Amino acid sequence: MHPAIPHLVELQRVDHQIAVLRSALEGFPKRIREAESKLGSARADVASAKEAHAHVVAERKKFEFDGQQWKDRARKYRDQSGAVKTNEAYKALQHEIANAEAEVAKADDRQLEVMMAAEEAERRVNIAESRLKEIEQAVAGERNEIQAQGTEKKKQLEAATAEREKIIAPVPEDLRELYARIAKRHNGTAMAEARDGQCRGCGMRVLPHILQVLRTETNEEVYRCESCGLILYTLEPIPIANPAVGSANTSSTASTNS
Ligand SMILES: [Zn+2]
Repeated sequence: MHPAIPHLVELQRVDHQIAVLRSALEGFPKRIREAESKLGSARADVASAKEAHAHVVAERKKFEFDGQQWKDRARKYRDQSGAVKTNEAYKALQHEIANAEAEVAKADDRQLEVMMAAEEAERRVNIAESRLKEIEQAVAGERNEIQAQGTEKKKQLEAATAEREKIIAPVPEDLRELYARIAKRHNGTAMAEARDGQCRGCGMRVLPHILQVLRTETNEEVYRCESCGLILYTLEPIPIANPAVGSANTSSTASTNS
């Protein structure tokens, strides 16, 4: 195994961690927007309840006005009734008075209906407003919670970024570039473990002699999977420190694998 490989494996670990933290952080504004979107419909409910209430109040005023007008008219006719000269005129006036009083009664009835409707509309406004207040409190709590999580994630990201600096320090420039190029093409992953004779990145078989050199401490080469192109490493223990005995070990490993 190339001496930089353990650093690259560590780098891969911290890079995955950074990617997870970044995507979580990118999701936070959306989570806040989603929480706040609940306010929109609650606010709209309050607005429409208030509008309905205003409409009923306007109707009530109109019926009040109508009723008052008919009352005034009836009074005016009664005042006139003392001054009429003929029987016909008197009868006509009595008829007008009766009509005006009927209209007053009608307006009173409608006013009563509309007052009840106004009470109901007011009750709905109160319900919508208290519901909005509850949702505002819940959303504020949720927003604080999300922001606290965001602060925590940011801290973790800073720590991971600092850790990355340390991990990458001993890695030679050409390997950093290779790692970055492969990671970019494979969704952030550049390293693949060779385990049980397979590349864990793609599942393809890794040739035994490559497995063997991966286990060789003195090896300076970097091997990439022929199928997926990821940099291969092995966590299986390097069996011997002395390369001179390496060939004997190769056959024993091979027989274990077959
Ligand atoms: Zn592969």
